[in-house]
Amino acid sequence: MAYVITQRCCNDASCVPECPVDCIRPTPEQPEFATTEQLYIDPDTCIDCGACVDACPVEAIFSEDDLTASLARFRDINASYFERHPLESNFDPLVTPSRPPKELGTLRVAIVGAGPAACYAADELLRRADVEVEMFDRLPTPWGLVRAGVAPDHPGTKSVSAMFESAFRRDTLQYRLNVEVGKHISHDELLGHHHAVIYAVGASTDRRLDVPGEDLAGSHSATEFVAWYNGHPDYAERSFDLSGERVVIVGNGNVALDVARVLTLPADELAKTDIADHALEALRNSNVREVVVLGRRGPLQAAYTSSEFLALGHLKGVDVVIDPAELELDPHSQALFDDPQIEPSLKLKYELAQEYAAETPNPENKRIVFRYLASPTEITGDDKVEALEFVHNELVEEDGRVVARASDRTEALSASMVLRSIGYKGRPVQDLPFDDRGGVVPNEHGRVVADGAHVTGVYVSGWIKRGPRGVIGSNRVDATETVEQVLEDFTAGKLAAPEGDRAALEALLSERQPDAIGREGWKAIDAAEKGAGKSAGRPRVKFTTIDDLLKAARG
Ligand code: NAP
Repeated sequence: MAYVITQRCCNDASCVPECPVDCIRPTPEQPEFATTEQLYIDPDTCIDCGACVDACPVEAIFSEDDLTASLARFRDINASYFERHPLESNFDPLVTPSRPPKELGTLRVAIVGAGPAACYAADELLRRADVEVEMFDRLPTPWGLVRAGVAPDHPGTKSVSAMFESAFRRDTLQYRLNVEVGKHISHDELLGHHHAVIYAVGASTDRRLDVPGEDLAGSHSATEFVAWYNGHPDYAERSFDLSGERVVIVGNGNVALDVARVLTLPADELAKTDIADHALEALRNSNVREVVVLGRRGPLQAAYTSSEFLALGHLKGVDVVIDPAELELDPHSQALFDDPQIEPSLKLKYELAQEYAAETPNPENKRIVFRYLASPTEITGDDKVEALEFVHNELVEEDGRVVARASDRTEALSASMVLRSIGYKGRPVQDLPFDDRGGVVPNEHGRVVADGAHVTGVYVSGWIKRGPRGVIGSNRVDATETVEQVLEDFTAGKLAAPEGDRAALEALLSERQPDAIGREGWKAIDAAEKGAGKSAGRPRVKFTTIDDLLKAARG
């Protein structure tokens, strides 16, 4: 018997060093790690000890005997990775990372943001040095996209917050929630109270399609829709028109799949989750029966991961529909698919599409329809969205990348709502340089760079550092790299000692933001939400306005 890594894998690689026989791949040191969809366990080497299960922060690892029907296929998915990448054990003895010398005293670090990138950075600092970490967030709640981005029907993915909660239980880390950097405290004041400031502010806006009709009523970004159903206070007042039968989602990344599931899952299934009450009520009354997911490239280039695509096939009352004609491969993609060296995850992506295409949909079911090689050209309607017009694409190779080129064949799809799900984008951060094209703060391994030089004491981590790619656990390796630079600079004496200590910071904050929320306030919110959820058979019932969150924080 072996253990198997499944759909929820967060790629944070916590399991890798725990494996006594070194059979989990790829490791963060391997080049494949940067692009892998998930990690895999070699079934021939696994000794069934279960050490990886305890280390996994998102409950993604199961004994092969315990795999449910929807996860059974991951046994082969794990095994086939090792057919393509035979296990070569390169187990190096664990090297204990160096700590700054004691005589340097306590390192004070401000982290701006409280999402996964911020939390992994804080966790790494707490492990590696004598530190005081102050974690700022403009919202009264921590965990960023774990709370406001991860789909409500993926509770396992959210369990990473329990790991952070436990790592942050001591006073060495203090939450400074409901405090906005740039409003309640300036960048210079942060630097005055800390040796270093790490910005882990994510990528909070979205990309635009730049097609006519994009601003019609009923055309939104998926990021707004996601924030709305997850109860983000900035979006609680939004409304989305679910009165029509068809919604089109442009883009086919994992966010598009999250949104497609939320739009089609039975409301009674969603009612078991922590979805915001306002969204649950709207979805209960929804008339949506079909969600069309439009990808601009072909099925082999789709941005979703094969594990998320596979999971769609197990949704209650939902069919995945693909016209077999959409799966015809152009010569380049055919050659890629026929290559015996093809990555198993890529091969699976196409095979799953073929399986869906071969199924006969149940007319009683809702449908998620995948269209490929299609780019929107206009969103039309008199005063609200009525249709989306698109052009069929061909694939061509450009600078070593397969890109979509418009043909002269066009089509229109009637729809009452269009959601563009074409990626997040970082916003400029006050007082920091910004690369507008990439939507990132220019940096070298996390050290912020301006005019070709490092900005002393200022660092970035997560999506604002590397762009909006990767799953939650990808932030672990990223944060480790940033923290490494902080510790190196501190040890080399490059960081100015703070003028103000924690007491001075608290005095400043109590003057500027009397409603700042700390550990006790967050605990009170958390307990109240979980308490409300318990009686309703849900993990929590979220407060969705700042007022309600503040009331709950005061107990
Ligand atoms: P994404 O994976 O980058 O997908 C963006 C999609 O938009 C791609 O299909 C892309 O096509 C398309 N696109 C971009 N510009 C376009 C344009 N002008 N017109 C038409 N299509 C366009 O982004 P995402 O879905 O927002 O996800 C962000 C990250 O979060 C990803 O790494 C994702 O895996 C991760 N995430 C993971 C989960 C999960 O594990 N369950 C859930 C949510 C998000 P091209 O490929 O042709 O560029």
